[in-house]
Amino acid sequence: MAEQTVEQGRDLPHAFRRIGQALVSGLDVKDVLGSIVDEAMIQLDAEVALLRLLDRPGEHLELEVSRGVPEETVRQIRFRPGEGLAGRLVIDGRPLRGINLQQDPRADQRALARRFNWQAFAAVAIHLHQQPIGVWFMIRHRREPFTEEDLLLLSTFADYASLAIERGWLLHTIIREKHESEAVIQASANGILVVDAYGRVVDMNPALERLTGWSQRQARGLPCCDVVGCQAERGIGAPSKLCPLQVAARRGDRAFIEYQLQTRDGKSIPVEASYGLVWDEDGELFRIVIVFRDISHQKELNRLRAEIVANVSHELRTPLSLIKGYATTLLSPDVKMDEAETRRFLTNVSTAADHLGRMIDDLLCASRIETQQLKLESKRFDLCKELRQVLSWFQPYAPDLQLVADLPAHELWVWADPDRVHQVMMNLLTNAAKYSPVGSTITVRSQILGDPPAAVVHVIDEGSGIAAEYLPRIFDRFYLTDESKKGIGLGLYICRGLVEAMGGSIWVVSEVGEGSTFSFTLPVQAESKAAVAGRSD
Ligand code: ADP
Repeated sequence: MAEQTVEQGRDLPHAFRRIGQALVSGLDVKDVLGSIVDEAMIQLDAEVALLRLLDRPGEHLELEVSRGVPEETVRQIRFRPGEGLAGRLVIDGRPLRGINLQQDPRADQRALARRFNWQAFAAVAIHLHQQPIGVWFMIRHRREPFTEEDLLLLSTFADYASLAIERGWLLHTIIREKHESEAVIQASANGILVVDAYGRVVDMNPALERLTGWSQRQARGLPCCDVVGCQAERGIGAPSKLCPLQVAARRGDRAFIEYQLQTRDGKSIPVEASYGLVWDEDGELFRIVIVFRDISHQKELNRLRAEIVANVSHELRTPLSLIKGYATTLLSPDVKMDEAETRRFLTNVSTAADHLGRMIDDLLCASRIETQQLKLESKRFDLCKELRQVLSWFQPYAPDLQLVADLPAHELWVWADPDRVHQVMMNLLTNAAKYSPVGSTITVRSQILGDPPAAVVHVIDEGSGIAAEYLPRIFDRFYLTDESKKGIGLGLYICRGLVEAMGGSIWVVSEVGEGSTFSFTLPVQAESKAAVAGRSD
C-alpha cells in the first residue's frame, strides 16, 4: 500500500523537466547536482541523501551533496572501494536496497545509523565512462523499503548526476587549461602578439607591452604593423615581407624573420619574430600568433666578437709585418749591411717573434682557462724568494723605473704553481711598467693577512691609474679601456684565471693620476701559518 502511495504521488515529467533546466542553466555543477538530489528525494520520498565522489588523486574538483545530515558528519564518513555497502556498490556496480541500516556489520556505521535514525536505504554507484566515480545513498527514517522501481528511478537520477559531473569536470579542465596557458603567455619573457585574419591586434602579453611601449588596451584593434613597428621595413608602396598577412598568404613558408622593431617612442630594437598560423575548421585563417625576441644583446655580442677578432688579428699582424719587413730587407741582394747592422735587424726579428709567441701563448692560455683545461703543478715553495727572482728578472725590461721589493725577511711558504705565479707577476709588472712615467717606482709587497690566513701580493705603481667606470670589467676577457686600444686584453683575464685556479683571488684599487695597486692571494702552508701565530703585531 505504502509503495503505491509513493508511486502515485510521483510527478516524473516535471521532475525531469526541472533537472533538464538545471543542466542547461549554466549553474555551478554542485548546484545542478543539488537540484537532481532534491528531485530524487521528493520522488523517492526519502529524508536523507548522501552523494559522494571517490577521492581522485590530483583532481581538485571535490563534489559532495548531502541532505538531512549535518555537515561535520558527512565529512567523517569515508567511502573506500571494497569496504562496506558503498564499497560493494563501487566494486560490483549493482544497486542495493535494504530495510535497516542500523544492522550494518560495522560498529561505527551502526552507531551513525542509530544516532540519526537511518532505516530503509537505496544506493547506486555513479559511473562516468563505465568507471565508478561515486556513490549515492537515499535513506528513510522508517522501515518502509525502497522498491525495485525506486532503484531503477534512482539509477536514472544517477545518470543525470554523472552527466552533470562530466560537464563540470570538462568545464573545470577547460578553465584550468585556459588559466595555465594564459599564465604561460603572461609570464613569457618573449613578446607575444595575437593578430586576427585582417592583421588587427587581438591580444598581446606584458613582455610585448614592455618591448613596444604600447599597452594592450591601446593596441587592441590597431593594424599590427603600427604596434610592432615594421613600417621602416615596408618600403614605399611595397607590402612588408614581415606583414603577418603576407606570411599567412605564403602559408608560413617564411615564418621566421629578423628586423628592427620601431617602439612607440621611436626607438629601434633588433628583434627576431616567428609566426604561427592558426586555421579554423574550414581551413580559413583565424589567428596569427607572433613571438618576438629582443636580440639586442646577441647583436651586441656579435659586434663585440667581430671587434675582438679584428683587434686580435691586427695585434698579431703587427710583429708579423715587422718580421716580414726585416727578413725581406736582409734577403734583398741590393742591400749591403755590415755585421753590426745585420745583428741589430736579427735582434728586432727575434724580439718581434717573442712578442708574437707571447700573444699566441696568451690566447692558448685564455682558451684553457675558459674550457677549464688549465694544468697546474702546485707545490710548496717560498713566495718571497720567487718574488725576488721575478723582480731581478724583470729589471732589465724596466731600466727607467725603480723596482722595490718590500718583502718579509722570513720565508713565506705557499702552495701554488711557481711558474704560474711567475706568469701572473710578469703580466702585472709589464702592465705597471707600461702605464708608469719614467723615474717612478713599482713596489712589490707581500704579507700574510686574513683568517684563515692567506699570502697577499701587491704590485703598486705610480702610473696613470684606471678610471672607476672600467674597474668592474677590467679582469674580463678581451677587455681594453678606451684609453689604451693597444693589446688584446687578455693579461688580466689570465691573471685572474691562474690565481683562482690556485685557490686565490685578485682585485685592483686604482685612482686616476695616482696609480694602481693590483693584489692577489695564495694559500699559505703550515710554516707560514706558524709565522703568523708568532707575530706580535
Ligand atoms: P693586455 O693583455 O692587452 O695588456 P690587460 O688585460 O693586461 O690587457 O689589461 C687590460 C687593460 O687594463 C689595459 O688596456 C689597461 O687599460 C688597463 N691596465 C692594466 N693594468 C694597468 C695599470 N697598472 N695601470 C693602468 N691601467 C692598467
